[in-house]
Amino acid sequence: MGNNILYIEDNPDNMMLVKRALEARGYRLLEAMTGLEGVAKAENEDVDLILLDINLPDIDGYEVARKIRNSSKTKLAYTPIIAVTANALKGDAEKALSSGCDVYMSKPINIRELWARVEAFVPSPQNSL
Ligand code: MN
Repeated sequence: MGNNILYIEDNPDNMMLVKRALEARGYRLLEAMTGLEGVAKAENEDVDLILLDINLPDIDGYEVARKIRNSSKTKLAYTPIIAVTANALKGDAEKALSSGCDVYMSKPINIRELWARVEAFVPSPQNSL
């Protein structure tokens, strides 16, 4: 298994925060700023886990998750997807799960929670050194 994480997020501050946090643990971050760019990268690049913002400028994260799960690229049926959203409403978590996300975490992003959630699916390359 590789260590490529795709983050689909339109907020540059969150992108920078997550990039630094994950690179510090030895992961490689692929970036997409829109939902459709994210779907295209998931299909065209080698991706081991997807972090997915829900509020995106084009299609929302739920639609992104559905497109990824319905992709003809077989691996995307089981590539882990972690939804990351500012929406604290309980229904949003359920919507994320029913659209194909594996887990849900809320903003503001807590770095330790992020590391733990990612490592539950993709071991940190730093721990295997
Ligand atoms: Mn957003």
